[in-house]
Amino acid sequence: HKIGVCCGAGCISSGSEEVLKKLQEEVTTRGLDHDVEIIPTGCMGPCNQGPLMKYLPDHTIYQKVDCSNIAAIVQSQIIDKKPIEHLLLFADTREKPFRDAREDPFFKSQLKIVLRNCGQLNPERIEDFLVHDGYQALDKTLCEMSPEDVIAEIKHSRLRGRGGAGYPTGLKWETVYKYVNDQKYVICNGDEGDPGAFMDRSVLEGNPHRVLEGMAIAGYAIGATKGYAYIRGEYPLAIKRFETAIKQARKMGLLGTDILGSNFSFDVEVRIGAGAFVCGEETALIASIEGKRGTPRPRPPFPAEFGLWGKPTLINNVETFASISPIIINGGEWYSEIGTPKSAGTKVFALAGKINYSGLIEVPMGTSLREIVFDIGGGMQGGGEFKAAQTGGPSGGCIPAGHLDVKMDYEALTNLGSIMGSGGLIIMDQTSDMVDVARFFMEFCMDESCGKCLPCRVGTKMMCDLLQKICDNRATQIDLDRLEELAIYVKETSLCGLGGSAPNPLLSTLRHFRNEYQNRLIRHE
Ligand code: SF4
Repeated sequence: HKIGVCCGAGCISSGSEEVLKKLQEEVTTRGLDHDVEIIPTGCMGPCNQGPLMKYLPDHTIYQKVDCSNIAAIVQSQIIDKKPIEHLLLFADTREKPFRDAREDPFFKSQLKIVLRNCGQLNPERIEDFLVHDGYQALDKTLCEMSPEDVIAEIKHSRLRGRGGAGYPTGLKWETVYKYVNDQKYVICNGDEGDPGAFMDRSVLEGNPHRVLEGMAIAGYAIGATKGYAYIRGEYPLAIKRFETAIKQARKMGLLGTDILGSNFSFDVEVRIGAGAFVCGEETALIASIEGKRGTPRPRPPFPAEFGLWGKPTLINNVETFASISPIIINGGEWYSEIGTPKSAGTKVFALAGKINYSGLIEVPMGTSLREIVFDIGGGMQGGGEFKAAQTGGPSGGCIPAGHLDVKMDYEALTNLGSIMGSGGLIIMDQTSDMVDVARFFMEFCMDESCGKCLPCRVGTKMMCDLLQKICDNRATQIDLDRLEELAIYVKETSLCGLGGSAPNPLLSTLRHFRNEYQNRLIRHE
């Protein structure tokens, strides 16, 4: 018997560590130690139903477990071999909960590639990862493939960077590969800072070796011997687990000198972000690793040519690196056939807001927003009315109800004035005030502006003031016109992506919900 207890940050915050301890005690007390293996796992997905406990052989998930029902679960599930129906996942909302959680629409509509083993294995044990084909892709890369082969495979997969911009990953790798230099670097961007986003955190917490393996493969492909994982300081568990993974990989010869008996050497260090949102921007992130103040610089030169300490540098985000091993193992062709013609593969979303089931999900690109909200997410809380979905965090926009059938991929979201971003997906109902939503994100950008360039430093403050004026019903049409004009200036003249995309939530809400702005204005008869 194997029982997994979710020990991702979400479930820990609702008490899963106590549940884990109590379960261990219960199993010991009953003398079941030799029959039952208890595994502290990473995120299982339905975060708002935690603490979650999974009977792994049957994929039976118990929700909102507390110490008082452990004894009953052990008795029923392990000894009597009968699940306790009323404690099963979604038992409070489904007419009949599924004993095999994979049958539930929450999981059935998903396709897990990046998250495949998240929630199945103990992220702090490399042995668990090895049992789940861990480091097979690295082995294949070093034994059977040249760097050119690896790049060709990634290009063939049509994988696009999951950090937000969606730049083709293979092309990026090829560009860095082509710059000849005695030293190159690989950087994993784990400085996830969008409000409502927790994809990278969950991957780092739930399957850190997968990210490490992807970084090592990238290092081999571009000719780098050194990597850095830049993880935000607010993610102590992710940092701890990633550092543990590095130590374990070094010990087993999967990092360090002459990896797996090849002549390829590669090592990784963790750098901890100090809480500045702008450090997610690649040039600011590089400056931060170099020990300087984390502010962006003009590009070109791009990091691919002149990156960390002036050397060619490849930067990808956590989810991108976590997608590499399956592509190497199954082939670029396999991956390219998933998703839509221009956006291949799957996307991890942090589903949150006024929805029944929120959490961490992964779907093929092109899955409709309706399917995400109503099948996976179980519909709106309290029978509310879907009003909008906010994608892409402070750089993104809102998709209104009229576009519920939009196929979620890079192009479709851009056409609607939003962006895919890194995967934050906040669902709003009729109680959400869209002007207030725009004001919230603008305030966030104003606070996080590094102040280096004037359009963003001053422009976000001015836009914030104007939005506040509208929220307070003190603004006129002239203010609204000025706000729109300012938004375009800031968008076009800011130095980096933070300022360049700060007006997006405003422009997108204006595009789809202009009446909510108009209704707040003072009218001069
Ligand atoms: Fe700094 Fe904003 Fe200018 Fe970016 S756009 S450099 S965050 S002031």
